[in-house]
Amino acid sequence: MKGRFAPSPTGYIHLGNVWIALLSYVSTKQQKGQYVVRMEDIDIQRSKRELGEALLDDLEWLGFEWDEGPRVGGPESTYWQSERQTYYGDVLEHLASEKLIYPCFCNRTRLHSIASAPHVGEVVHRYDGHCRHLEAKLIKEFMTSKEPSLRLAVNSCDIDFVDRWQGFQHIHLEGELDDYVLRRGDGMYAYNLAVVL
Ligand SMILES: [Zn+2]
Repeated sequence: MKGRFAPSPTGYIHLGNVWIALLSYVSTKQQKGQYVVRMEDIDIQRSKRELGEALLDDLEWLGFEWDEGPRVGGPESTYWQSERQTYYGDVLEHLASEKLIYPCFCNRTRLHSIASAPHVGEVVHRYDGHCRHLEAKLIKEFMTSKEPSLRLAVNSCDIDFVDRWQGFQHIHLEGELDDYVLRRGDGMYAYNLAVVL
């Protein structure tokens, strides 16, 4: 098995980071697994390389030794998420060719109005699929004035997994998942995409 610590280098290390790093480290080592450090620096506006390096310095100073990650390498070409932009782009292209993503031109005001007017009994605010079935002609027209975000078209699905406490689990999801954004209008890849890849 593998265990991982994946901090976002948006600030200097804090006690919460160290606590999570320690828990994942102990859990991984107890199970004789490989300990991976991955830099979650996908938010290129808030993450800074030097903060990431400082975080690694502190982890080393604290005595952590990771089997895969920055400075030690491993089977992946990089452990900095920001360095995998080409890969994210390739995957989006593949999803587009399978017609699984669509452009969304909704502005902040519109998205905010959906969020502030939830349906009765709804706890999570979901995107209403407004742009999911736009005609190609309209998409072309909108493209000239606005760079859209790209959303994943999520349909009903079945998920099976084994939980270490509760055992085998089967979940059927119908209309509960959001058509979440995989790439923002400003070109930044979303955490939801990067973390899965
Ligand atoms: Zn939209």
